[in-house]
Amino acid sequence: MSVVATATLPPVVGSFGIGRSRRGVSRIKMVVRSGVVSVAPILTKLQSECATPLPVLRRVADEMTADMRAGLSVEGGGDLKMILSYVDSLPSGNEKGLFYALDLGGTNFRVLRVQLGGKEERVIATEFEQVSIPQELMSGTSEELFDFIVSGLAKFTQQEGENFHLSPGRKREIGFTFSFPVKQTSIDSGILIKWTKGFAVSGTAGKDVVACLNEAMKRQGLDMQVSALVNDAVGTFAGAKYWDDDVMVGVILGTGTNACYVERMDSIPKLHGSFSPSGRTIINTEWGAFSKGLPLTVFDRDMDAASINPGEQIFEKTIAGMYLGEIVRRVLLKMAEEGAFGSCVPEKLFTPFILRTQDLCAMQKDNTDDLQAVGSILYDVAGVESNLNSRKLVVEVCDTIVKRGGRLAGAGIVGILQKMEQDSEGLIFGKRTVVAMDGGLYEHYPQYRRYIQDAVTELLGTETSQNVIIEHSKDGSGIGAALLAATNSKYGHDY
Ligand code: ADP
Ligand code: MG
Repeated sequence: MSVVATATLPPVVGSFGIGRSRRGVSRIKMVVRSGVVSVAPILTKLQSECATPLPVLRRVADEMTADMRAGLSVEGGGDLKMILSYVDSLPSGNEKGLFYALDLGGTNFRVLRVQLGGKEERVIATEFEQVSIPQELMSGTSEELFDFIVSGLAKFTQQEGENFHLSPGRKREIGFTFSFPVKQTSIDSGILIKWTKGFAVSGTAGKDVVACLNEAMKRQGLDMQVSALVNDAVGTFAGAKYWDDDVMVGVILGTGTNACYVERMDSIPKLHGSFSPSGRTIINTEWGAFSKGLPLTVFDRDMDAASINPGEQIFEKTIAGMYLGEIVRRVLLKMAEEGAFGSCVPEKLFTPFILRTQDLCAMQKDNTDDLQAVGSILYDVAGVESNLNSRKLVVEVCDTIVKRGGRLAGAGIVGILQKMEQDSEGLIFGKRTVVAMDGGLYEHYPQYRRYIQDAVTELLGTETSQNVIIEHSKDGSGIGAALLAATNSKYGHDY
Protein backbone atom coordinates (compact mmCIF):
# COMPACT_ATOMS: atom_id res chain seq x y z
CA MET A 1 0.00 0.00 0.00
CA SER A 2 1.46 3.38 -0.91
CA VAL A 3 0.74 6.59 0.84
CA VAL A 4 1.89 9.92 -0.49
CA ALA A 5 2.96 12.78 1.68
CA THR A 6 0.33 14.76 3.49
CA ALA A 7 0.54 18.49 3.68
CA THR A 8 -0.74 19.11 7.16
CA LEU A 9 -0.84 22.75 8.03
CA PRO A 10 -1.74 24.04 11.48
CA PRO A 11 -5.47 23.61 11.99
CA VAL A 12 -7.65 26.65 11.65
CA VAL A 13 -9.92 27.55 14.49
CA GLY A 14 -13.56 28.40 14.22
CA SER A 15 -14.88 31.81 13.53
CA PHE A 16 -16.45 32.99 16.72
CA GLY A 17 -16.04 36.74 16.62
CA ILE A 18 -14.23 38.26 19.56
CA GLY A 19 -17.61 39.87 19.89
CA ARG A 20 -17.54 40.93 23.48
CA SER A 21 -16.55 44.48 24.09
CA ARG A 22 -13.87 44.90 26.69
CA ARG A 23 -14.68 48.56 26.94
CA GLY A 24 -11.33 49.93 28.13
CA VAL A 25 -8.50 50.69 25.74
CA SER A 26 -5.98 48.58 27.53
CA ARG A 27 -6.45 44.89 27.24
CA ILE A 28 -4.19 44.26 30.16
CA LYS A 29 -6.48 44.33 33.08
CA MET A 30 -5.11 44.89 36.55
CA VAL A 31 -6.48 42.64 39.19
CA VAL A 32 -6.86 43.42 42.82
CA ARG A 33 -6.54 40.07 44.46
CA SER A 34 -3.75 37.70 43.72
CA GLY A 35 -2.84 34.12 44.25
CA VAL A 36 -4.07 30.67 43.61
CA VAL A 37 -5.87 30.42 46.95
CA SER A 38 -8.47 33.00 45.96
CA VAL A 39 -9.42 31.02 42.84
CA ALA A 40 -9.73 27.62 44.52
CA PRO A 41 -13.52 28.11 44.87
CA ILE A 42 -13.79 28.64 41.09
CA LEU A 43 -12.19 25.25 40.51
CA THR A 44 -14.32 23.56 43.16
CA LYS A 45 -17.48 25.02 41.66
CA LEU A 46 -16.38 24.03 38.14
CA GLN A 47 -15.67 20.47 39.23
CA SER A 48 -18.99 20.13 40.93
CA GLU A 49 -20.94 21.62 38.00
CA CYS A 50 -19.10 19.43 35.47
CA ALA A 51 -19.35 16.26 37.51
CA THR A 52 -20.68 13.21 35.68
CA PRO A 53 -21.45 10.60 38.33
CA LEU A 54 -23.35 7.50 37.26
CA PRO A 55 -26.87 9.01 37.62
CA VAL A 56 -25.90 11.88 35.30
CA LEU A 57 -24.40 9.46 32.76
CA ARG A 58 -27.48 7.27 32.95
CA ARG A 59 -29.81 10.20 32.43
CA VAL A 60 -27.82 11.34 29.39
CA ALA A 61 -27.81 7.82 27.92
CA ASP A 62 -31.56 7.46 28.50
CA GLU A 63 -32.33 10.90 27.09
CA MET A 64 -30.21 10.05 24.04
CA THR A 65 -32.22 6.86 23.51
CA ALA A 66 -35.50 8.75 23.94
CA ASP A 67 -34.43 11.49 21.55
CA MET A 68 -33.45 8.90 18.95
CA ARG A 69 -36.92 7.41 19.15
CA ALA A 70 -38.52 10.86 18.95
CA GLY A 71 -36.48 11.74 15.85
CA LEU A 72 -37.37 8.42 14.17
CA SER A 73 -41.09 8.90 14.85
CA VAL A 74 -41.65 12.20 13.13
CA GLU A 75 -39.48 14.73 11.34
CA GLY A 76 -38.29 17.23 13.96
CA GLY A 77 -39.59 15.06 16.82
CA GLY A 78 -36.51 15.63 18.97
CA ASP A 79 -33.08 17.29 19.04
CA LEU A 80 -31.69 14.46 16.93
CA LYS A 81 -32.56 14.66 13.26
CA MET A 82 -32.07 10.90 12.72
CA ILE A 83 -31.37 11.36 9.02
CA LEU A 84 -31.72 8.51 6.54
CA SER A 85 -28.33 7.97 4.95
CA TYR A 86 -29.70 6.05 1.94
CA VAL A 87 -26.85 3.66 2.61
CA ASP A 88 -28.83 0.44 2.42
CA SER A 89 -26.12 -1.81 1.07
CA LEU A 90 -22.67 -1.88 2.54
CA PRO A 91 -19.34 -2.75 0.97
CA SER A 92 -19.02 -6.53 0.76
CA GLY A 93 -15.31 -6.78 0.07
CA ASN A 94 -15.93 -7.72 -3.56
CA GLU A 95 -15.54 -4.17 -4.81
CA LYS A 96 -12.94 -3.64 -7.52
CA GLY A 97 -11.51 -0.65 -9.31
CA LEU A 98 -10.34 2.92 -8.74
CA PHE A 99 -12.41 5.19 -6.52
CA TYR A 100 -11.91 8.64 -5.06
CA ALA A 101 -13.08 10.25 -1.83
CA LEU A 102 -13.38 13.88 -0.83
CA ASP A 103 -13.64 14.58 2.88
CA LEU A 104 -14.64 18.04 4.05
CA GLY A 105 -14.40 18.11 7.85
CA GLY A 106 -14.46 21.09 10.18
CA THR A 107 -10.73 21.72 10.10
CA ASN A 108 -9.28 19.63 7.34
CA PHE A 109 -9.98 18.82 3.75
CA ARG A 110 -8.75 15.47 2.47
CA VAL A 111 -8.63 13.89 -0.95
CA LEU A 112 -8.00 10.21 -1.31
CA ARG A 113 -7.92 7.54 -3.98
CA VAL A 114 -8.05 3.83 -3.50
CA GLN A 115 -7.55 0.88 -5.81
CA LEU A 116 -9.76 -1.98 -4.69
CA GLY A 117 -8.92 -5.56 -5.61
CA GLY A 118 -11.94 -7.55 -4.46
CA LYS A 119 -12.10 -10.21 -1.70
CA GLU A 120 -8.55 -11.46 -2.14
CA GLU A 121 -6.58 -8.30 -2.62
CA ARG A 122 -8.85 -5.85 -0.81
CA VAL A 123 -7.13 -2.44 -0.72
CA ILE A 124 -4.29 -2.62 -3.25
CA ALA A 125 -3.17 0.98 -2.94
CA THR A 126 -4.26 4.26 -1.40
CA GLU A 127 -2.95 7.77 -1.68
CA PHE A 128 -4.21 10.82 0.13
CA GLU A 129 -3.52 14.45 0.72
CA GLN A 130 -4.74 16.73 3.47
CA VAL A 131 -4.83 20.48 3.74
CA SER A 132 -6.34 22.70 6.39
CA ILE A 133 -9.26 24.82 5.31
CA PRO A 134 -8.24 28.48 5.03
CA GLN A 135 -10.04 30.55 7.65
CA GLU A 136 -11.41 33.03 5.11
CA LEU A 137 -13.18 30.27 3.21
CA MET A 138 -15.14 29.36 6.32
CA SER A 139 -17.05 32.61 6.05
CA GLY A 140 -16.82 33.23 2.30
CA THR A 141 -19.20 32.23 -0.46
CA SER A 142 -20.31 28.78 -1.44
CA GLU A 143 -18.60 29.11 -4.84
CA GLU A 144 -15.28 30.00 -3.21
CA LEU A 145 -15.40 27.01 -0.89
CA PHE A 146 -16.38 24.51 -3.58
CA ASP A 147 -13.84 25.95 -6.03
CA PHE A 148 -11.17 25.41 -3.39
CA ILE A 149 -12.27 21.81 -2.92
CA VAL A 150 -12.36 21.11 -6.64
CA SER A 151 -9.01 22.70 -7.35
CA GLY A 152 -7.47 20.45 -4.63
CA LEU A 153 -9.16 17.46 -6.21
CA ALA A 154 -8.06 18.41 -9.72
CA LYS A 155 -4.43 18.77 -8.63
CA PHE A 156 -4.57 15.44 -6.81
CA THR A 157 -6.13 13.67 -9.79
CA GLN A 158 -3.27 14.81 -12.02
CA GLN A 159 -0.77 12.98 -9.81
CA GLU A 160 -2.41 9.57 -10.10
CA GLY A 161 0.39 6.99 -9.85
CA GLU A 162 0.92 3.72 -11.67
CA ASN A 163 -0.84 1.64 -9.00
CA PHE A 164 -4.15 3.10 -10.02
CA HIS A 165 -6.17 2.00 -13.01
CA LEU A 166 -9.45 3.36 -14.20
CA SER A 167 -11.61 0.80 -16.01
CA PRO A 168 -12.06 1.76 -19.67
CA GLY A 169 -15.14 3.80 -20.50
CA ARG A 170 -15.68 4.99 -16.93
CA LYS A 171 -15.42 8.35 -15.26
CA ARG A 172 -13.59 8.59 -11.97
CA GLU A 173 -16.21 8.12 -9.25
CA ILE A 174 -16.19 10.01 -5.96
CA GLY A 175 -17.54 9.34 -2.50
CA PHE A 176 -18.09 12.78 -0.97
CA THR A 177 -17.80 12.94 2.80
CA PHE A 178 -19.45 16.14 3.91
CA SER A 179 -19.43 16.47 7.69
CA PHE A 180 -22.26 18.93 8.24
CA PRO A 181 -25.98 18.29 8.74
CA VAL A 182 -27.46 17.35 5.38
CA LYS A 183 -30.98 16.23 4.58
CA GLN A 184 -30.11 13.35 2.36
CA THR A 185 -32.46 13.02 -0.64
CA SER A 186 -30.76 9.99 -2.22
CA ILE A 187 -27.41 8.25 -1.93
CA ASP A 188 -25.89 10.91 -4.17
CA SER A 189 -27.75 14.09 -3.24
CA GLY A 190 -28.57 16.04 -0.11
CA ILE A 191 -29.56 19.50 1.04
CA LEU A 192 -27.37 21.34 3.54
CA ILE A 193 -29.55 22.06 6.58
CA LYS A 194 -27.09 24.45 8.21
CA TRP A 195 -23.41 24.97 8.74
CA THR A 196 -21.87 24.06 12.12
CA LYS A 197 -18.38 24.09 13.68
CA GLY A 198 -17.81 27.80 13.07
CA PHE A 199 -18.60 27.71 9.34
CA ALA A 200 -20.74 30.57 8.01
CA VAL A 201 -20.47 30.12 4.24
CA SER A 202 -23.12 32.06 2.37
CA GLY A 203 -25.35 30.55 -0.27
CA THR A 204 -25.08 26.83 0.55
CA ALA A 205 -27.79 26.22 3.16
CA GLY A 206 -30.89 24.85 1.45
CA LYS A 207 -28.90 23.71 -1.60
CA ASP A 208 -27.84 20.28 -2.78
CA VAL A 209 -24.16 20.07 -1.87
CA VAL A 210 -23.48 17.54 -4.64
CA ALA A 211 -24.92 20.03 -7.15
CA CYS A 212 -22.60 22.69 -5.66
CA LEU A 213 -19.67 20.32 -6.15
CA ASN A 214 -20.77 19.40 -9.69
CA GLU A 215 -21.10 23.09 -10.62
CA ALA A 216 -17.58 23.79 -9.34
CA MET A 217 -16.25 20.78 -11.31
CA LYS A 218 -17.97 22.14 -14.40
CA ARG A 219 -16.44 25.59 -13.83
CA GLN A 220 -13.02 24.00 -13.67
CA GLY A 221 -13.51 21.42 -16.42
CA LEU A 222 -13.07 18.41 -14.14
CA ASP A 223 -15.06 15.44 -15.40
CA MET A 224 -15.72 13.22 -12.39
CA GLN A 225 -18.88 11.60 -11.06
CA VAL A 226 -20.20 11.80 -7.47
CA SER A 227 -21.69 8.37 -6.68
CA ALA A 228 -22.17 8.67 -2.93
CA LEU A 229 -22.70 11.54 -0.51
CA VAL A 230 -22.06 10.53 3.09
CA ASN A 231 -21.16 12.17 6.32
CA ASP A 232 -18.01 11.32 8.24
CA ALA A 233 -19.74 9.05 10.76
CA VAL A 234 -21.32 7.02 7.96
CA GLY A 235 -18.02 6.92 6.07
CA THR A 236 -16.21 5.73 9.20
CA PHE A 237 -18.87 3.11 9.76
CA ALA A 238 -18.61 1.78 6.19
CA GLY A 239 -14.80 1.85 6.26
CA ALA A 240 -14.71 -0.16 9.49
CA LYS A 241 -17.47 -2.58 8.46
CA TYR A 242 -15.42 -3.50 5.38
CA TRP A 243 -12.90 -5.15 7.70
CA ASP A 244 -15.09 -6.23 10.60
CA ASP A 245 -18.67 -7.42 10.35
CA ASP A 246 -19.40 -6.75 14.04
CA VAL A 247 -19.28 -2.95 13.55
CA MET A 248 -22.70 -1.55 14.50
CA VAL A 249 -21.99 2.10 15.31
CA GLY A 250 -19.72 4.79 13.85
CA VAL A 251 -18.69 7.81 15.91
CA ILE A 252 -16.71 10.93 15.02
CA LEU A 253 -14.86 12.95 17.61
CA GLY A 254 -12.85 15.54 15.73
CA THR A 255 -13.51 19.24 15.34
CA GLY A 256 -17.16 18.33 15.78
CA THR A 257 -18.97 15.15 16.67
CA ASN A 258 -21.56 12.82 15.16
CA ALA A 259 -22.69 9.20 15.29
CA CYS A 260 -24.49 6.73 13.06
CA TYR A 261 -25.75 3.19 13.53
CA VAL A 262 -27.58 0.31 11.86
CA GLU A 263 -31.34 0.64 12.17
CA ARG A 264 -34.20 -1.66 11.26
CA MET A 265 -36.42 -0.08 8.62
CA ASP A 266 -39.51 -1.17 10.56
CA SER A 267 -38.28 0.86 13.55
CA ILE A 268 -38.51 4.12 11.58
CA PRO A 269 -42.17 5.23 11.80
CA LYS A 270 -41.49 8.46 9.87
CA LEU A 271 -40.68 6.34 6.80
CA HIS A 272 -44.32 5.26 6.54
CA GLY A 273 -43.41 1.80 5.36
CA SER A 274 -40.97 2.36 2.48
CA PHE A 275 -38.40 -0.35 3.00
CA SER A 276 -35.06 -1.23 1.46
CA PRO A 277 -34.49 -4.83 0.33
CA SER A 278 -32.18 -5.56 3.27
CA GLY A 279 -34.70 -4.24 5.81
CA ARG A 280 -31.92 -2.24 7.43
CA THR A 281 -30.35 1.13 6.86
CA ILE A 282 -27.79 3.44 8.38
CA ILE A 283 -29.17 6.34 10.37
CA ASN A 284 -27.10 9.47 10.74
CA THR A 285 -28.15 10.71 14.19
CA GLU A 286 -26.60 14.22 14.04
CA TRP A 287 -26.17 13.79 17.78
CA GLY A 288 -24.17 17.02 18.05
CA ALA A 289 -27.55 18.73 18.41
CA PHE A 290 -28.42 16.73 21.53
CA SER A 291 -28.98 18.92 24.60
CA LYS A 292 -30.80 17.12 27.41
CA GLY A 293 -29.50 16.43 30.89
CA LEU A 294 -26.04 17.86 30.22
CA PRO A 295 -24.11 19.35 33.12
CA LEU A 296 -23.34 22.86 31.83
CA THR A 297 -21.63 25.88 33.37
CA VAL A 298 -21.63 29.62 32.88
CA PHE A 299 -18.56 29.14 30.69
CA ASP A 300 -20.48 26.87 28.33
CA ARG A 301 -23.41 29.23 28.22
CA ASP A 302 -21.20 32.25 27.50
CA MET A 303 -19.33 30.38 24.77
CA ASP A 304 -22.61 29.31 23.22
CA ALA A 305 -24.00 32.85 23.36
CA ALA A 306 -20.91 34.19 21.55
CA SER A 307 -21.03 31.47 18.89
CA ILE A 308 -22.40 31.81 15.38
CA ASN A 309 -25.05 29.20 16.22
CA PRO A 310 -26.29 30.04 19.73
CA GLY A 311 -28.59 27.49 21.30
CA GLU A 312 -27.57 24.85 18.77
CA GLN A 313 -25.16 21.88 18.81
CA ILE A 314 -24.95 21.86 22.62
CA PHE A 315 -23.65 18.28 22.91
CA GLU A 316 -21.04 19.11 20.27
CA LYS A 317 -20.04 22.25 22.15
CA THR A 318 -19.57 20.20 25.32
CA ILE A 319 -17.61 17.24 23.97
CA ALA A 320 -15.92 18.06 20.63
CA GLY A 321 -12.40 19.19 19.78
CA MET A 322 -13.27 22.63 18.50
CA TYR A 323 -14.63 23.67 21.88
CA LEU A 324 -12.76 21.99 24.76
CA GLY A 325 -9.80 24.38 24.57
CA GLU A 326 -12.09 27.38 24.36
CA ILE A 327 -14.05 26.36 27.46
CA VAL A 328 -10.78 26.02 29.36
CA ARG A 329 -9.65 29.43 28.10
CA ARG A 330 -12.81 30.98 29.47
CA VAL A 331 -12.24 29.38 32.87
CA LEU A 332 -8.61 30.51 32.92
CA LEU A 333 -9.64 34.04 31.99
CA LYS A 334 -12.00 34.12 34.95
CA MET A 335 -9.24 32.78 37.19
CA ALA A 336 -6.77 35.33 35.83
CA GLU A 337 -9.22 38.10 36.63
CA GLU A 338 -9.30 36.80 40.17
CA GLY A 339 -5.52 36.94 40.35
CA ALA A 340 -4.52 33.33 39.73
CA PHE A 341 -1.61 34.27 37.49
CA GLY A 342 -0.28 37.43 39.08
CA SER A 343 -1.55 40.95 39.07
CA CYS A 344 -2.29 41.29 35.35
CA VAL A 345 -4.55 39.47 32.96
CA PRO A 346 -2.47 38.61 29.91
CA GLU A 347 -3.83 40.13 26.71
CA LYS A 348 -3.71 36.89 24.76
CA LEU A 349 -6.07 35.20 27.18
CA PHE A 350 -8.87 37.42 25.89
CA THR A 351 -8.63 35.95 22.41
CA PRO A 352 -11.32 33.37 21.68
CA PHE A 353 -9.99 29.96 20.59
CA ILE A 354 -6.38 30.91 21.32
CA LEU A 355 -6.10 27.79 23.48
CA ARG A 356 -6.69 24.67 21.42
CA THR A 357 -7.69 21.19 22.45
CA GLN A 358 -4.24 20.06 21.28
CA ASP A 359 -2.76 22.36 23.96
CA LEU A 360 -4.89 20.76 26.68
CA CYS A 361 -3.70 17.36 25.52
CA ALA A 362 -0.05 18.43 25.60
CA MET A 363 -0.48 19.89 29.09
CA GLN A 364 -2.12 16.72 30.39
CA LYS A 365 0.77 14.67 29.01
CA ASP A 366 3.35 16.65 31.02
CA ASN A 367 4.76 14.40 33.73
CA THR A 368 7.73 16.52 34.78
CA ASP A 369 7.93 17.46 38.48
CA ASP A 370 7.67 21.15 37.82
CA LEU A 371 5.15 20.86 34.96
CA GLN A 372 7.56 22.55 32.61
CA ALA A 373 5.55 21.85 29.45
CA VAL A 374 2.42 23.26 31.07
CA GLY A 375 4.38 26.40 31.95
CA SER A 376 5.70 26.86 28.40
CA ILE A 377 2.35 26.23 26.74
CA LEU A 378 0.61 28.65 29.07
CA TYR A 379 3.20 31.29 28.34
CA ASP A 380 3.63 30.70 24.61
CA VAL A 381 -0.03 30.25 23.78
CA ALA A 382 -1.83 32.44 26.29
CA GLY A 383 0.88 34.74 27.64
CA VAL A 384 0.23 33.36 31.14
CA GLU A 385 3.11 33.35 33.62
CA SER A 386 2.74 30.53 36.08
CA ASN A 387 4.29 28.83 39.07
CA LEU A 388 3.93 25.20 40.07
CA ASN A 389 0.74 25.80 42.01
CA SER A 390 -1.01 27.66 39.24
CA ARG A 391 0.15 25.05 36.69
CA LYS A 392 -1.41 22.32 38.82
CA LEU A 393 -4.57 24.35 38.91
CA VAL A 394 -4.61 24.67 35.11
CA VAL A 395 -4.10 20.92 34.67
CA GLU A 396 -7.06 20.34 36.99
CA VAL A 397 -9.20 22.68 34.89
CA CYS A 398 -8.20 20.86 31.67
CA ASP A 399 -8.94 17.51 33.26
CA THR A 400 -12.34 18.65 34.49
CA ILE A 401 -13.47 19.76 31.03
CA VAL A 402 -11.94 16.82 29.19
CA LYS A 403 -13.30 14.31 31.68
CA ARG A 404 -16.80 15.70 31.29
CA GLY A 405 -16.46 15.61 27.48
CA GLY A 406 -15.15 12.05 27.30
CA ARG A 407 -17.65 10.68 29.81
CA LEU A 408 -20.59 12.34 28.11
CA ALA A 409 -19.44 10.95 24.76
CA GLY A 410 -19.36 7.52 26.42
CA ALA A 411 -22.90 8.02 27.73
CA GLY A 412 -24.03 8.98 24.22
CA ILE A 413 -22.55 5.76 22.82
CA VAL A 414 -24.37 3.72 25.45
CA GLY A 415 -27.59 5.59 24.57
CA ILE A 416 -27.29 4.32 20.98
CA LEU A 417 -26.32 0.77 21.98
CA GLN A 418 -29.16 0.41 24.45
CA LYS A 419 -31.68 1.67 21.88
CA MET A 420 -30.52 -1.05 19.46
CA GLU A 421 -30.58 -3.69 22.18
CA GLN A 422 -34.08 -2.67 23.31
CA ASP A 423 -35.41 -3.19 19.78
CA SER A 424 -33.60 -6.48 19.08
CA GLU A 425 -32.66 -8.28 22.24
CA GLY A 426 -29.22 -9.86 22.10
CA LEU A 427 -28.20 -7.89 18.99
CA ILE A 428 -25.71 -5.75 20.88
CA PHE A 429 -24.95 -7.04 24.35
CA GLY A 430 -25.30 -10.74 23.61
CA LYS A 431 -22.25 -10.84 21.33
CA ARG A 432 -19.18 -8.90 20.25
CA THR A 433 -20.18 -5.41 19.10
CA VAL A 434 -17.78 -2.88 17.64
CA VAL A 435 -18.10 0.90 17.83
CA ALA A 436 -15.84 2.39 15.15
CA MET A 437 -14.34 5.71 16.19
CA ASP A 438 -12.49 8.34 14.18
CA GLY A 439 -11.54 12.00 14.39
CA GLY A 440 -8.52 13.93 15.59
CA LEU A 441 -9.76 14.30 19.17
CA TYR A 442 -10.29 10.57 19.64
CA GLU A 443 -7.11 9.70 17.81
CA HIS A 444 -4.75 12.01 19.63
CA TYR A 445 -6.12 12.45 23.16
CA PRO A 446 -5.46 9.28 25.24
CA GLN A 447 -6.96 10.71 28.41
CA TYR A 448 -10.18 11.56 26.60
CA ARG A 449 -10.32 8.03 25.21
CA ARG A 450 -9.92 6.60 28.71
CA TYR A 451 -12.79 8.72 29.98
CA ILE A 452 -15.06 7.42 27.22
CA GLN A 453 -14.21 3.84 28.15
CA ASP A 454 -14.70 4.52 31.88
CA ALA A 455 -18.21 5.84 31.30
CA VAL A 456 -19.15 2.91 29.04
CA THR A 457 -17.86 0.42 31.62
CA GLU A 458 -19.64 2.18 34.49
CA LEU A 459 -22.92 2.28 32.60
CA LEU A 460 -22.90 -1.25 31.22
CA GLY A 461 -21.08 -3.03 34.01
CA THR A 462 -17.81 -4.90 33.60
CA GLU A 463 -19.26 -8.04 32.07
CA THR A 464 -21.50 -6.50 29.40
CA SER A 465 -18.97 -3.84 28.51
CA GLN A 466 -16.46 -6.55 27.61
CA ASN A 467 -18.60 -7.34 24.58
CA VAL A 468 -18.46 -3.71 23.45
CA ILE A 469 -15.25 -2.93 21.61
CA ILE A 470 -14.55 0.74 21.03
CA GLU A 471 -12.03 0.81 18.23
CA HIS A 472 -10.16 3.44 16.30
CA SER A 473 -10.85 3.17 12.58
CA LYS A 474 -8.08 5.34 11.23
CA ASP A 475 -9.07 7.45 8.24
CA GLY A 476 -12.08 5.20 7.97
CA SER A 477 -14.26 8.04 6.79
CA GLY A 478 -12.22 8.67 3.63
CA ILE A 479 -11.79 5.02 2.66
CA GLY A 480 -15.41 4.39 3.68
CA ALA A 481 -16.67 7.08 1.33
CA ALA A 482 -14.62 5.61 -1.54
CA LEU A 483 -16.02 2.16 -0.71
CA LEU A 484 -19.55 3.53 -0.75
CA ALA A 485 -18.84 5.12 -4.14
CA ALA A 486 -17.87 1.63 -5.29
CA THR A 487 -20.94 -0.04 -3.78
CA ASN A 488 -23.15 2.60 -5.37
CA SER A 489 -21.23 2.81 -8.63
CA LYS A 490 -23.10 4.31 -11.57
CA TYR A 491 -21.69 1.52 -13.68
CA GLY A 492 -23.18 -1.29 -11.61
CA HIS A 493 -20.93 -4.13 -10.58
CA ASP A 494 -18.92 -6.32 -12.86
CA TYR A 495 -17.70 -8.61 -10.12
P1 ADP B 1 -12.02 17.24 10.88
O1 ADP B 1 -12.82 17.50 12.09
O2 ADP B 1 -11.76 18.44 10.07
O3 ADP B 1 -12.52 16.09 10.07
P2 ADP B 1 -10.00 15.80 12.37
O4 ADP B 1 -10.85 14.61 12.54
O5 ADP B 1 -8.58 15.60 11.98
O6 ADP B 1 -10.55 16.85 11.34
O7 ADP B 1 -10.06 16.56 13.75
C1 ADP B 1 -9.33 17.73 13.97
C2 ADP B 1 -9.60 18.16 15.39
O8 ADP B 1 -9.10 17.17 16.30
C3 ADP B 1 -8.93 19.43 15.77
O9 ADP B 1 -9.74 20.52 15.47
C4 ADP B 1 -8.74 19.26 17.27
O10 ADP B 1 -9.90 19.69 17.94
C5 ADP B 1 -8.62 17.77 17.48
N1 ADP B 1 -7.22 17.39 17.66
C6 ADP B 1 -6.26 17.31 16.72
N2 ADP B 1 -5.07 16.97 17.27
C7 ADP B 1 -5.30 16.82 18.59
C8 ADP B 1 -4.48 16.49 19.72
N3 ADP B 1 -3.18 16.25 19.62
N4 ADP B 1 -5.07 16.44 20.92
C9 ADP B 1 -6.37 16.69 21.05
N5 ADP B 1 -7.18 17.03 20.05
C10 ADP B 1 -6.66 17.09 18.84
MG1 MG C 1 -13.55 14.46 9.66
